[in-house]
Amino acid sequence: MSADDLLTRLRALVGQQGPVQSARHPVNLPAIADWCDAMGDGNPVYTDEEAAAKSRHGGIVAPPATLDIWDRPGLPAQPRFRPAAKPPAADPRSRTLRLLEEAGFIGVVAVNSELEIARYLRPGDVVQNTQILDDVSEEKQTALGVGHFVTTRQRYETSDGEHVGDLLFRILKFKPSSGQQSTGTSPAAAAQARPAPDPSPALRPRPGINKDNEALWEGYRNHELRLPRCNGCGRVFFPPSPRCSSCGAFDMGYVVVSGRGTLYSFSVVHHPQVPGFRYPLVVGLVELDGADDGAGRGVRFLADLVGVSPAQAEVGMPLEIEWLDSHPALVEGATDSRGPITVPQFRPATPTRREDTLTAGSVQEGQRLPLWTLPLAPTHIVAGALATRDFQDVHHDRDLAVQKGSKDIFLNINTSLGLMERYVTDWSGPDAAVTALRVRLGAPAYPYMPLTFSGAVKSVDADTGRVVVGVQASNELGPHVTGTVELELQP
Ligand SMILES: [Zn+2]
Repeated sequence: MSADDLLTRLRALVGQQGPVQSARHPVNLPAIADWCDAMGDGNPVYTDEEAAAKSRHGGIVAPPATLDIWDRPGLPAQPRFRPAAKPPAADPRSRTLRLLEEAGFIGVVAVNSELEIARYLRPGDVVQNTQILDDVSEEKQTALGVGHFVTTRQRYETSDGEHVGDLLFRILKFKPSSGQQSTGTSPAAAAQARPAPDPSPALRPRPGINKDNEALWEGYRNHELRLPRCNGCGRVFFPPSPRCSSCGAFDMGYVVVSGRGTLYSFSVVHHPQVPGFRYPLVVGLVELDGADDGAGRGVRFLADLVGVSPAQAEVGMPLEIEWLDSHPALVEGATDSRGPITVPQFRPATPTRREDTLTAGSVQEGQRLPLWTLPLAPTHIVAGALATRDFQDVHHDRDLAVQKGSKDIFLNINTSLGLMERYVTDWSGPDAAVTALRVRLGAPAYPYMPLTFSGAVKSVDADTGRVVVGVQASNELGPHVTGTVELELQP
């Protein structure tokens, strides 16, 4: 079949509508609570009857990012649980994807997701959706390969026909290994370019542990940030030293501090590059809370910053401890009698959830949201997938994810959107209404790669209360999601 014939057949499907897909169960409190647990979202309008009754909703509502999870078929739809033949593809997206796969476009990647909320769902609503194939692009050359963008729209209603929202979803179906080669580098320059060293923390040089600092390393192992303290005059200081520079005593103890502080200064290391670190590396001098150096300022502590790009590092930013456990003990021969090593690092302080709600008049265009770094653990990824009723194996089964070409399990889109919604409503306060979540999808979010959310107000309409917040979540691979959250605040 020629490319023109294929496009003609694909385009014939545009505008077609699939069958109605209905939820098996109504929107319900336990599922909402599980979603809130998975996202770490403490907004009381989702779980607290009394607080919700006083909100703009007048009662408990489901988080808006859950719009498209309720009518998902669930675990029984997985082939392993129902090994019968694949049901015939009834919806136009599946038929389009099948045509593309038959023509060799076997790769797939999600590109855009846009949720528009007409009204928040409430416990008891039974959700259904109908899908329309909105567009199939002509063949395009992309970095991944030649392919077609396939756009669908899903209209969400309650079982009695009330419109509650819409989802636009765009994927790219492509031919793997047909990506554009970079032509910007000469072969000679490419040969000279040194590959970056392996960033695995297991390869880091082992710290020198001795009598002066072993009590500190012992504390780190128990996630206790200890600082040396002179038992003679009580002075607290860093780095450790055998003798007090104030009173001359040799008798040293330690104090334990919270691990919160502010960035006093920082440096960005580009060279030399050693294995175990990812470059550019942001190294901070952190002024610690609760540790007076005797001159009325916090003791300053040198450590790597995680979840902070060089552009995001800012003197004065609030930070908190992030422990890196057991790193060099993983290297063969690197263990010694002192056992595994834990290293103190710092990440942006987790923003606190706002209890009252901002008004549009109190928000300025360009205003920035505080950074939020989530140290992404496998539990977040698995809990997020299950709480959004996404049972695809790549979100919970590492072996199968690796078989399918992924480095590890990765965060599903609905969890990314849920975290993004939480990030913005934690900043705006609980009684902001989310009207849309629109994202472009980028690098996958893998376990153990801290995911950092940043945001800024793009526009404010003080008359209507409409506020658009631009948000990006990035990890060391680059932007994971980039998009906007649209809010309605009191004017
Ligand atoms: Zn002293």
